Amino acid sequence: MTTPTQENRYPTALTVDDFKHNLAVVRQKIATACQRSGRDAHTVRLLPVSKTVDKARIQLAYEAGCHFLGENKVQEAFDKWQSLSALNDLQWSIIGHLQTNKAKFVAKFAAEFQALDSIRLAEALERKLQEEGRSIDVFIQVNTSGETSKYGLHPEETAAFIKSLASFDCLKVKGFMTLACLSDNEQRVRSCFRLLRNLRDQRQQDAPANMQLHELSMGMSGDYAMAVEEGATVVRVGQAIFGARALPDSYYWPTHG
Ligand SMILES: *Cc1c(COP(=O)(O)O)cnc(C)c1O
Repeated sequence: MTTPTQENRYPTALTVDDFKHNLAVVRQKIATACQRSGRDAHTVRLLPVSKTVDKARIQLAYEAGCHFLGENKVQEAFDKWQSLSALNDLQWSIIGHLQTNKAKFVAKFAAEFQALDSIRLAEALERKLQEEGRSIDVFIQVNTSGETSKYGLHPEETAAFIKSLASFDCLKVKGFMTLACLSDNEQRVRSCFRLLRNLRDQRQQDAPANMQLHELSMGMSGDYAMAVEEGATVVRVGQAIFGARALPDSYYWPTHG
């Protein structure tokens, strides 16, 4: 691995052993956070996020046990899916904002979509999935930080949104996803996670009978331990597994710039 420096908290994984090491470290931190909060570590899924990582290193991560990967941009994910088709049990989760006209790509190959935030998009996805004869797991993205231009529904919009999803047979709604605010203030970050968890608990009570809505996808390299303490069932971790990215987060989340 490259040596970590002040600017680079996340050394780049370059071998299968590097990946095994990084995965073990992250899993250990998840287990410790579970212990602190009285949770069973098996109730937390680690979703490695491979955006910007090339095919060769994804292959190494796969050999280290990563068979379900998250990607922010659907076109990048689609290209990787095509070029890595030899790994036929490798599954993909799209975790970033999706334009309606790109729903067809998600419908072709993704196992999961975590950024559902409009009815128009739900309709487009449902239609394309029907054409493909497929269904996918979906998470509703919620804006828990109140930052105006960040993607996701406002918490108050979720009840009506969920009702209108009940008739979409190809979208298996599993729960909620959020990006916490990027802040050094731990309480502010935690309050985003808590908001999502409380929202999940409420929405489970008035959910249509065919929806479980159990999942909470929250926490990334900088804050996943906290997210687990607050109830995350999925953590999306990129840099702590693959290494630091060259592109700033503002490239993926315009408001963070
Ligand atoms: C990139 C990304 C992550 C992972 O961030 P890291 O800092 O690499 O752990 C999580 N969620 C979303 C939506 C992302 O785009």
